[in-house]
Amino acid sequence: MPRDKQTDPEDISSLKQKIEILESQLEEIRLQTHVLLDIARALNASLDTRVIATNIISAIVSLIGINQASVCLYNEKTQDFEVIGVFDSGTLSPQIPPHLDLSFLKKVLAEGVTYYRSPQDLRDWEWICCLPLQNAQHKIGSINIHSIRQPEITSEQMEFLETVAGHASSALENALLYAFVERESITDGLTGVYNHRYFQKRLREQISLCQRRKRSVTFGLLIIDVDNFKLFNDRYGHQFGDAVLQTIVRELQSNLREGDLIVRYGGEEFVILVPETTEKIILLISEKIREVVERTLIHYPPTNEDVSVTVSIGATLWHPSDSPASLISRADHALYKAKRTGRNQSVFE
Ligand code: GH3
Ligand code: MG
Ligand code: MG
Repeated sequence: MPRDKQTDPEDISSLKQKIEILESQLEEIRLQTHVLLDIARALNASLDTRVIATNIISAIVSLIGINQASVCLYNEKTQDFEVIGVFDSGTLSPQIPPHLDLSFLKKVLAEGVTYYRSPQDLRDWEWICCLPLQNAQHKIGSINIHSIRQPEITSEQMEFLETVAGHASSALENALLYAFVERESITDGLTGVYNHRYFQKRLREQISLCQRRKRSVTFGLLIIDVDNFKLFNDRYGHQFGDAVLQTIVRELQSNLREGDLIVRYGGEEFVILVPETTEKIILLISEKIREVVERTLIHYPPTNEDVSVTVSIGATLWHPSDSPASLISRADHALYKAKRTGRNQSVFE
């Protein structure tokens, strides 16, 4: 008589075994999905690239034994890397795993595929892995991992790392895009310095900072206006006028301190906010700026001549009774006086 397959105890036990294996695999998948979901959430929770880098490293460290890791951002324009996060389990302190240099990372990024040097290539129990961070349009950066005294990376771990790299790429891309839009909204397109809107914000902040301080600290404000610029444009053209404005900004940048805020106030007018200063210093700064602009020659190719412009400057210091409007209006008044009494000079009020 043929055996009834349905009731064969051997088959039942083998089926049970299979079910157990499948259940444990399912549990593993559930766990991984959970971890990956957590990672995706953590990575997308911030728009700060350094926080994202820390989250990337924590995610990797929580699942794989590693000794060193770094997260780098790649700047496509300058072709440079910036290290935005490092992990070092203690012994050494290189910023990226040893055996690698930045030109090597460039190659990994150009190829766009994960680089892995296994223990077979290196010493026993040592591996290196570089995961390119990228999307269809851009090379974003890389995650670099160095591991000593750990077993060779498994295919599941590699899959996990590549999934993390995918999430990391979109999180970093979002953060970079956000930073770009934020920067764009506060800078002037022609000269790259801050715009009027940002100036208003910083001016209010500067005033409340001085109000909070006990000792009498003040700050200075300069309004700089190019002299007879309409005539200049009429003679040399608007485009050359634009180049002159860019040159003036470069001169301002190289002749002022890092803490001084340079703003394109509008048209051919600039504002400088000088923190923690005195009347003496403000006078020195405005005279220096006036002189530098007057001395700067700009080549005008059509007639092969070197031309220059001059500026008038209205300067003032913040008084404790000042509102933003009263401060600006005093500097404006000083500028008006400088224009009315001959231009190419600075007036303090
Ligand atoms: P003043 O010495 O009294 O300041 O004379 P001005 O001609 O500079 O003053 P006015 O306010 O009459 O004209 C400002 C000119 O600045 C008008 C405009 O042609 C020029 N200007 C404003 N913004 C820009 C700009 O972005 N690029 C260029 N090329 N010129 C600009
Ligand atoms: Mg003007
Ligand atoms: Mg002018």
